[in-house]
Amino acid sequence: MKPSLEHCFKLLLLLALGGVTMHVPDADVLSSLGALRLDGHFSFHDASAMARDFGNRCSLLPAAVLHPGSVSDIAATLRHVFSLGERSPLTVAARGHGHSLMGQSQAAGGIVVRMESLRGSSDRRLQVVHGGMSPFVDAPGGELWINVLHETLKHGLAPKSWTDYLHLTVGGTLSNAGVSGQAFRHGPQVSNVNQLEIVTGRGDVVTCSPEENSDLFYAALGGLGQFGIITRARIALEPAPKMVRWIRVLYSDFVSFTEDQEMLIMAENTFDYIEGFVIINRTGILNNWRTSFKPQDPVQASRFQSDARVLYCLELTKNFNSDEADNMEQEVTALLSRLRYIRSTLFHTDVTYLEFLDRVHASEVKLRAQGLWEVPHPWLNLLIPRSSIQRFAKEVFGKILKDSNNGPILLYPVNKSKWDNRTSVVIPDEEIFYLVGFLSSAPSLSGHGSVAHAMNLNNQIVEFCEEADIGMKQYLAPYTTQQQWKAHFGARWETFERRKHTYDPLAILAPGQRIFPKAS
Ligand code: FAD
Repeated sequence: MKPSLEHCFKLLLLLALGGVTMHVPDADVLSSLGALRLDGHFSFHDASAMARDFGNRCSLLPAAVLHPGSVSDIAATLRHVFSLGERSPLTVAARGHGHSLMGQSQAAGGIVVRMESLRGSSDRRLQVVHGGMSPFVDAPGGELWINVLHETLKHGLAPKSWTDYLHLTVGGTLSNAGVSGQAFRHGPQVSNVNQLEIVTGRGDVVTCSPEENSDLFYAALGGLGQFGIITRARIALEPAPKMVRWIRVLYSDFVSFTEDQEMLIMAENTFDYIEGFVIINRTGILNNWRTSFKPQDPVQASRFQSDARVLYCLELTKNFNSDEADNMEQEVTALLSRLRYIRSTLFHTDVTYLEFLDRVHASEVKLRAQGLWEVPHPWLNLLIPRSSIQRFAKEVFGKILKDSNNGPILLYPVNKSKWDNRTSVVIPDEEIFYLVGFLSSAPSLSGHGSVAHAMNLNNQIVEFCEEADIGMKQYLAPYTTQQQWKAHFGARWETFERRKHTYDPLAILAPGQRIFPKAS
């Protein structure tokens, strides 16, 4: 459908009402998009769904949405926008599943590329190659990880490194890092990619890998969408286990909790997944667990009182196939015997590998039913060096936070040696660092469950980190000025900027990250 003058006027009005100051493309520019010969199509009138994300705190209306029918559609669009030159205000944002927190996949007055449309195109099917020693899957950039898992499981295989939630896209998580409880062993998702196909900000389609066009390959991994649109990723696979022993134990002492976590991530023979979370001022925790986990000792567990103000939960898994159950039991028992958790709080359950990996989706279904999913999410994700984690905990869990009722607080260590320092991801400069995620929901307009309340706490935490100079780096950082991004990248800014100049010199791509304002 062609854009009209009326559409341009409406867009201008909406942007003005939204308090956004920016250039709006004129009708000729929008018509020129409508005139491109594509396998898919542009839409100009139903863009409001693309002005939303999981964070629910930022809404920037695009001028047009590209529903690509092929990679050529994305390349033709980017070539066209590039040809308009630096005076054109048009920007282009790839949108994965829109699970960003602060408009990172939005483009005010620009073009949003709905990457999920690419999944249907004939040359973009998930393809598993399992001959030889190093099986892999070729996945479209807009594919959801849950679909990658379903497809690879048909071949008895699965990717090695995950995020906690699988309804995110391949291109979206690879543009950040992709971290979960497997990262201590395999590194983040960006460390498990063999090859990418990318459409750059000039509209060139480039295949890249550690051997071929390696500068673009590493730039795009963790590159916040700044250097090109990932249209295909070749992801390393391993044999998938059938079952998972999923274990939870509690600690009341932060030092024992973190020492045990660190010992486990450094051990040779260890668990397959190691995470942790912090519980502040909550009662009846074990009763909640009982709906899906079995206590090892029901009598002792029923006597446990969660009177400690702050408790720390260590969450672990061991993979197994049914003929290995006895072996798994022995290994788990031996590993648990080395830990210092509160003995009465050992709970476990056995679930399929799929059920374990897709666990957060089960919570999503429940929260959606209660109207608590599509609410603002003022999340804060920090990477804290090991040398500062005790100090951080004392201040944050001891003083700043009074409870953890607004959402989970994740805390687990990973090791830097598994992160490839040639990618664009920024991490603390220490061998072990912790991912600490404050995953708040803010369903209320005021008070304890509000955005203002959560942001106030987030700000206090960040201010503490900055004043104490503990070497913290933000993950999924919502910075809004280039100055902040320069500080974030530190010595790596020069490389990041040089790569931007090479692959997207007109700063067309991913404007919602607010790193490089488009010249106009
Ligand atoms: P989008 O939000 O749509 O896009 C993210 C950024 O990447 C944008 O700048 C966008 O323009 C760009 N982009 C999107 N697709 C492409 C592409 N194909 N090529 C180039 N650039 C692209 N992260 C973790 O690391 N670990 C977790 O355990 C984890 N759990 C999460 C749980 C939930 C419930 C949610 C909502 C998020 C979680 N995340 C986690 C964060 C997640 O990595 C980000 O939300 C990320 O943005 C992926 O979401 P998406 O695929 O919807 O991408």
